Amino acid sequence: MQKELLANPVFAMAAEQFDLVADFLQLPDDLRERCKWPKRLISVAVPIKLDNGVTQVFYGHRVQHHLTRGPVKGGLRFHPSVDLGEVAALAMWMNWKCALMDLPYGGGKGGIACDPRQMSRGELERLTRRFTMEMLPFISPEIDVMAPDMGTNEQTMAWMTDTYSARTGYLVPSIVTGKPIGMQGSAGRTLATGHGVAFLSTNALYKLGISIGSATAIVQGFGNVGSHTAKTLAAYGVKVTGISDASGALWNSCGIDVDALRVYVAEHGVVSGFPGADVIDPQEMLCQPCDVLAPAAMERAITKDIAALLQCRILAEGANGPTTPEADRIIDERGDIFVIPDILCNAGGVTVSYFEWVQNFQRFQWSENEVISKLETMLQKAFEKVTSFADRHKVSQRMAAQSIAVKTVADAKSLRGLFP
Ligand code: NAD
Repeated sequence: MQKELLANPVFAMAAEQFDLVADFLQLPDDLRERCKWPKRLISVAVPIKLDNGVTQVFYGHRVQHHLTRGPVKGGLRFHPSVDLGEVAALAMWMNWKCALMDLPYGGGKGGIACDPRQMSRGELERLTRRFTMEMLPFISPEIDVMAPDMGTNEQTMAWMTDTYSARTGYLVPSIVTGKPIGMQGSAGRTLATGHGVAFLSTNALYKLGISIGSATAIVQGFGNVGSHTAKTLAAYGVKVTGISDASGALWNSCGIDVDALRVYVAEHGVVSGFPGADVIDPQEMLCQPCDVLAPAAMERAITKDIAALLQCRILAEGANGPTTPEADRIIDERGDIFVIPDILCNAGGVTVSYFEWVQNFQRFQWSENEVISKLETMLQKAFEKVTSFADRHKVSQRMAAQSIAVKTVADAKSLRGLFP
């Protein structure tokens, strides 16, 4: 493989984390190579006609990290910064997440470099359908199952399902997950990631002996993950004192009314201007005393400078890769913060995506209660696996989670052996 194709700071971060884990596990060189580098890198030109009649060629990528334990699973994002290296890093993290949760999947990620906010609905539909067509030789419910990510949504998944099904001649809902409920999506999928972040946070509070009724939380990001994290924490009785999004940060030491904020954001699109809280500097908000800090916005939000100033007891990583490796080292040295690492903390989304895929094969819809109760059982099991590994081996929660995951993949590769 031409490894220079993957040159990107996010891939460098994922690779550095992998190397630390492989050293800890003392993975033999051959298995290390097979686990670290992606199986398939697919890049395609996606030409479409814009509304003004001009033909524009977009570039799309899909990385299938490995297919050792089943089809690859992971999102499709539409964003200007998408490149092969970023997508490969996200595919690698998906790998570890699926393995940690014991889902029968490898990791994948895809994206198209574009700015969906500047495109009409018609242009987005043509882009999605043409990309799906270009992917036809590489996807199926048994090979690669995509889902929404940044800049894509359940409508995107409905168009992908329709394009794929037009080729087969019958409806194949299991080709993607994160579909609308009316197109065999799963109950509970929208709230799953945030619900999981909140649920695992309460597990951590319990482990640290902090009562939920007296706990406080700060949430960065108020999109899908952040808003459901805040809503569920508040429903459990946790006081949410700080919430931010790209527009600014809010603070109320008596607790922000999360339901009222959700109504406000549905109307205004952003948290700024919400009357039920004071304004605070977004970076300062992250460093206020609290029991749970949930970064649920974007990658690399907790830098080394912020890590030194954190005053939380639990860092619940709702976003993917929110803590830089330098920050991670500081948090490790401090030893006073219980980290719920991203591949565990935000695994609720992919777990309910897996449930959706299973329901599609079964041609049977589960109720939201059934979905959430199965989700909590699986998250609790993974949480216990990670904390007991960390305690047993005296390593960080992140090292524990990634070690379990990498070892699961390495063991599967060893069992399958090499062919021919
Ligand atoms: P989203 O687009 O719905 O929301 C992102 C939120 O982050 C928005 O409120 C945005 O305003 C906010 N934000 C952006 N820049 C910010 C900044 N500088 N400071 C504070 N807030 C900022 O995205 P999402 O689906 O909620 O995903 C959030 C993170 O969680 C991403 O890292 C994503 O990869 C990860 N994740 C999402 C899911 C899922 O099911 N949606 C699953 C696993 C992981």
